[in-house]
Amino acid sequence: MGTATQGSRVVVVGAGQAGVETAACLRDYGYVGPITLLGEEPTAPYQRPPLSKDFLSRRVDADGLELRSADFYADRGIELATGRRVDAILPAERRVLLDGGGGLGYRHLVLATGARNRPLTVPGADLDGVCYLRTLAEAVALREWLTRPRELVVVGGGFIGLELAAVAAAGHRVTVVEAAPRCMARVVTPVVSDHAEAAHRRRGVEVLTGTGVRRILGTAGRVRGVELAGGRTVPADVVVVGIGAVAATGLAAEAGLVEGCAKGIITDEHGRTSAPGVFAVGDCAAQPGPGGALIRLESVPGAIGQAKRAAAAIAGVRGTPYGEHGMEDERAPAVPWFWSHQGELRLQIAGLPEAYDRAVVRGDPAAGRFSVFRFSAGELAAVESVNRPVDHMAARKLLARSIPITPEEAAELTFDLKSAATARA
Ligand SMILES: Cc1cc2nc3c(=O)[nH]c(=O)nc-3n(C[C@H](O)[C@H](O)[C@H](O)COP(=O)(O)OP(=O)(O)OC[C@H]3O[C@@H](n4cnc5c(N)ncnc54)[C@H](O)[C@@H]3O)c2cc1C
Repeated sequence: MGTATQGSRVVVVGAGQAGVETAACLRDYGYVGPITLLGEEPTAPYQRPPLSKDFLSRRVDADGLELRSADFYADRGIELATGRRVDAILPAERRVLLDGGGGLGYRHLVLATGARNRPLTVPGADLDGVCYLRTLAEAVALREWLTRPRELVVVGGGFIGLELAAVAAAGHRVTVVEAAPRCMARVVTPVVSDHAEAAHRRRGVEVLTGTGVRRILGTAGRVRGVELAGGRTVPADVVVVGIGAVAATGLAAEAGLVEGCAKGIITDEHGRTSAPGVFAVGDCAAQPGPGGALIRLESVPGAIGQAKRAAAAIAGVRGTPYGEHGMEDERAPAVPWFWSHQGELRLQIAGLPEAYDRAVVRGDPAAGRFSVFRFSAGELAAVESVNRPVDHMAARKLLARSIPITPEEAAELTFDLKSAATARA
């Protein structure tokens, strides 16, 4: 537990999902020292997932995105500084350097710098009308573009691209261009890709898979089309690039915290890096997964879980903070999970998209409600659920406690997954 001295300051770099959660949990766990939360974005900390869903469809505005109310930070003695970028960290001196000059000492430093858009590098990628969707500022700009009917090309058939395609299909002509043979190929099974692609096509979206973008065509500096690798030109006045993200590791790299790992800032399971007192959490961190290999998650549940564990370590909470503090089930490790909403398609994934040797379907894809259970060497490895939240919740319990079920049981709708998840625990 910290004491209220200047020397016990925790500095959190990045006021996004993981940074805010870390600061909040430190107080929850009884940390009484000063906490400074520094964010380079000019706005109050906000949630990103709605940017490609309810914000873009105008069901929610910017003030509905705030992670915490304005009072929250003051009430808890969390010093929030927005519009402040950290330019360097000096681990040997336990100090960070701020943009515009000045520095701040810390006892513990938490890097929660998130991820950056992977840039499209083809000719024409800098034309007016080429957009990205990660920050509130980018979402506001895209919403502005979509105030009148557009011909929109989405480069990348991943989660963000498909979510925005689903929203934009109402009122705009939308084409999704995906280089892989199917959408979301890195993460979901072909059954789910096929189902999602068919749903988007029914909505009027043209989904082109197995084709890359050769260049973006423009006139007078403005986008007018996209030339595909095969030579076809798709007319466009707006192009949104959603080809993934890379961990924001610049600060950490200069301090030597990513050496030997291309994925992100290397930490242990509590978020500790190799530098004394320095932690990393959220999209920027590469932490040991269930099998021990370093994995980098890009998900809200991942960011929250990592923030809680780092905060517990910094606050010096002993034993199993998980149950005591309303964290994950204390008897079981956290299972990575994720969700994506694409129109009427509510996709939830439990477990990691690793190799599998058998997949069985529970439910009926034609009815739009089904789950795919992936098995590896006879053991349940991951579960993708489409509009079946009950399966998803049961799957998280089964995976967390390594409860055995057979592929035949998983596929049989009369088999009670929920009971198995509790009775066999
Ligand atoms: C459009 C979109 C939709 C998404 N949808 C989902 C979804 O449906 N489900 C889901 O689970 N996840 C979703 N995600 C992913 C989820 O939002 C992220 O995993 C989560 O926000 C990660 O939290 P973070 O704190 O690590 O990073 P972020 O929330 O990205 O926050 C990092 C912050 O650090 C700041 N920063 C970086 N460097 C510095 C510096 N040097 N100094 C000061 N500040 C700095 C950044 O500006 C940023 O504000 C979505 C992401 C996007 C972009």
